[in-house]
Amino acid sequence: MNPSITDAPSLRDAGTLHFPGDPGYEAASTPWNLAVTQRPAAVAVPRSIDEVARVVGTAARLGLRIAPQSTGHGAAALGDHPLDDVMLLRLHELTGVTIDPEARIARVLGGTLWQDVVAAAAPHGLTAVHGSAGDVAVAGYTLGGGLSFYGRAHGLAASHLRAVELVTATGEVVRASADEHPDLFWAVRGGGGSFGAVVALEFDLLPIADVVAGMLLWDLSHAEDVLRAWAAWTADLPESVTTSLRFMRFPPVPELPPFLSGRSLVVIDGAVLEGDERAAELLAPLRALAPEMDTFARIPAPQLLAVHMDPPGPVPSVGRHALVSELTDTAIEAFLAVAGRGVDIPLMFAELRHLGGALAVPQDGALDRLDAAYALFALAPAPTPEIAAAGAAAAESVTAALGRWSSPRTFLNFADHGIDVATAFDADAWARLREVRRTIDPTGVWVANHPIGR
Ligand SMILES: Cc1cc2nc3c(=O)[nH]c(=O)nc-3n(C[C@H](O)[C@H](O)[C@H](O)COP(=O)(O)OP(=O)(O)OC[C@H]3O[C@@H](n4cnc5c(N)ncnc54)[C@H](O)[C@@H]3O)c2cc1C
Repeated sequence: MNPSITDAPSLRDAGTLHFPGDPGYEAASTPWNLAVTQRPAAVAVPRSIDEVARVVGTAARLGLRIAPQSTGHGAAALGDHPLDDVMLLRLHELTGVTIDPEARIARVLGGTLWQDVVAAAAPHGLTAVHGSAGDVAVAGYTLGGGLSFYGRAHGLAASHLRAVELVTATGEVVRASADEHPDLFWAVRGGGGSFGAVVALEFDLLPIADVVAGMLLWDLSHAEDVLRAWAAWTADLPESVTTSLRFMRFPPVPELPPFLSGRSLVVIDGAVLEGDERAAELLAPLRALAPEMDTFARIPAPQLLAVHMDPPGPVPSVGRHALVSELTDTAIEAFLAVAGRGVDIPLMFAELRHLGGALAVPQDGALDRLDAAYALFALAPAPTPEIAAAGAAAAESVTAALGRWSSPRTFLNFADHGIDVATAFDADAWARLREVRRTIDPTGVWVANHPIGR
């Protein structure tokens, strides 16, 4: 008999525990990134904090380590670890949002998605420091720092955390905040998922009901002019503006609108936290380049989640990343040469996100700032291993081309895999993270996609 049936009858009856061969195993172990195959020893899908605590006990009885996962957007890096002695802890059924409009604080359960937070906050004239995609979970995004189109004005999402509740390796529920377990609270602000299963997060909301946001779009034949103009523009911008520039390539498929289908494009998008007149003044140098499409306008804050055109559901993809310190003329030429010309490059996009402003101002937390001018991210479709290998090579050629101008540091949320996790932190922060891990998880129960070594 499978040991689980005697060890955890109630969890199994509730449909929360699946072993290889069980009908629910495949679906429960499939991550958002469909290029990654996860074959854990067991998968648990708890629906309450109490169930999470019981799952931890069950894993201990079965001699398994535990990998918390909310959506699997960051599954590529977890795929680097063998999971044959690991219970995958899928938290997508543990969701819920409570807004305190007076205090401007949200409390969410561990697997909650950003789109649900933004929808719940909007009726109160509030929003959050969310990322570009609504179906990314608050937990993984915030544990990795959290880079938003509000970022240059308001900093990393991790800096907006007020408290987290974690189920620890002993099954205890611990609350960490500035006053309770402050070392643990410091660690979860950017240090990732190595410290326990995060079952709730509380964070500050922004008093923003609407925002000037949108995109400007040109045919890729304008790549050079647009990139040079954006590089000059971003060198001298107020913190109120956070944008990205992407070279994008879309397949000719009927599901896409005609302005995207089969096209190669250069797209600038993001948010401008200014009045309409000042926003128009700031956008004028880009509009002077006569984009074929210009959707920048004042929109309700929740619509910012649609601006970046992230995939509406799970896709197979591979990505590579670097932090870029400056965009000199030669760096621009190098980026154009690998990603900005021709249509036959197997990349979905090559992106530069503008950093600086509040993102560069040190805060309290393991990831206290992003110390670079731009975050580079190249992504390729990966429907088969062969296409994935070609895509990974193309993405690597983009990061390699900008290597001379890249910082040795990395940003874990954009890191696919094969990364030295220590490079995401200052040396003293890395040492402190390891010490916190040794204290909270002395037996090494937790398996994170970007692990903090003990
Ligand atoms: C389409 C797309 C758009 C993106 N846009 C942005 C963006 O704008 N800004 C940005 O900063 N990042 C962005 N990302 C990266 C994203 O933030 C990271 O991949 C993040 O880790 C995803 O979190 P998740 O919980 O949804 O994913 P998961 O893969 O479920 O989690 C990643 C890791 O976080 C930890 N973790 C997750 N949930 C928990 C939990 N409840 N308890 C303990 N540990 C947990 C685990 O270690 C896990 O391996 C984007 C990614 C994609 C694919």
